[in-house]
Amino acid sequence: MDIRPDVLAAIGNTPLIKLRRASEETGCIILGKAEFMNPGHSVKDRAALGIITDAIDRGELCPGGMIVEGTAGNTGIGLAIVANALGMKTVIVIPETQAKEKKDTLRSLGATLLEVPAVPYKNDNNYVKVAARTAERLAREHPQGAIFANQFDNVANRDVHVRTTAPEIWAQTDGKVDGFVSAIGTGGTLAGVAAGLRERRPDIAIALADVPGAAMHSFYTTGELKAEGSSITEGIGQGRVTANLEGFEPDHSFFIPDAESLDIAYRLLKEEGLALGLSSGVNVAGAIRLARELGPGKTIVTMLCDPATRYQSRLFNPEFLRSKGLEPPSWLENPQPIEP
Ligand code: PMP
Repeated sequence: MDIRPDVLAAIGNTPLIKLRRASEETGCIILGKAEFMNPGHSVKDRAALGIITDAIDRGELCPGGMIVEGTAGNTGIGLAIVANALGMKTVIVIPETQAKEKKDTLRSLGATLLEVPAVPYKNDNNYVKVAARTAERLAREHPQGAIFANQFDNVANRDVHVRTTAPEIWAQTDGKVDGFVSAIGTGGTLAGVAAGLRERRPDIAIALADVPGAAMHSFYTTGELKAEGSSITEGIGQGRVTANLEGFEPDHSFFIPDAESLDIAYRLLKEEGLALGLSSGVNVAGAIRLARELGPGKTIVTMLCDPATRYQSRLFNPEFLRSKGLEPPSWLENPQPIEP
């Protein structure tokens, strides 16, 4: 028998998929960890489970309790799923400018949405600050507890990758892994997997794949937190050293323009049947760059974070893409005509 006791036990243990084209082109074995196969369809299910179980273990939450977070994306979806499975409530503080699809998804999962005006972090009414204050108040008022998930600075996020993602990659490759590459959102994935793999193989090559508008490539190559340009990628791109990134340093760092990650995302879709969000394009672009630096014969792992469907109205919208100076995929505008 092979039965998971609940949906939480279906988080993680995702397959490693060989990326044929990237492997052929580099002479390396490039593998993608299929995080889009998690129950909430993203890598953030792991962080959600890690943050909530940590709060339960510390006695801050019990069934009936509340999880509060300021987020619009995958983390909110992961938190709502884990909370539902444990009989808890989710409160998501979201800037009112966010896409309707995201708000609808969170609402349909049963999360309570608190919509607030979109204002910068330095303003007291910024959504993350509102989330922190709301969590503090609910924790006082609510007998079953309430926590601020705080994904950027709560290291339960990084720790879950040390405990699960890294040992999974090690076991799945029989310890034959030479490099790991990832973008940074909170930094939980990259810093956590790096720590877990370095414990097992101290000389493993760890690489950052960073996007325009983020400051981490600049930080790790020059020591300066400097951002340039902007990107249509979502869920990644960091401007500061979060608590999850403290003490972390990559061995390699790559700056990936949107045109490069988009081209790779479309090729993965059309040539390998892997329809993924753009952060996965960034990650695979980084894996190809690392393969070229390390030379043929190496095994390199990266993350396939979430599915393309989550970005339908942007990734497959020629008008939107052209407005950003990007080329839409050929099959969208010129589908091959077939006689009925
Ligand atoms: N890709 C996507 C689509 C994400 O939503 C996130 C999380 N924000 C990441 C990558 C990066 O993960 P992390 O927060 O662990 O750095």
